[in-house]
Amino acid sequence: TYVISQGCIDLKDRACVDECPVDCIYEGPRMLYIHPDECVDCGACEPVCPVEAIAYEDDLPSESAGYLAINAEVFADL
Ligand code: SF4
Repeated sequence: TYVISQGCIDLKDRACVDECPVDCIYEGPRMLYIHPDECVDCGACEPVCPVEAIAYEDDLPSESAGYLAINAEVFADL
């Protein structure tokens, strides 16, 4: 799955939402989140993010590694 990290906080540019072919990017109070079970790993969202907050899970920079779990937790109870 692709993952959104800290660059999105209080920004929520939403360019990624328009690109996602399966509409799996959801808006939270302070940032956007990718549903890990719905993401089809197409990569379309990554280049359009103006702050490069999106990365494939295995390519997350170390300071953003925790966002894999943070994105998943948003959908854990849904
Ligand atoms: Fe949507 Fe593709 Fe990005 Fe996954 S990789 S969130 S399917 S645009």
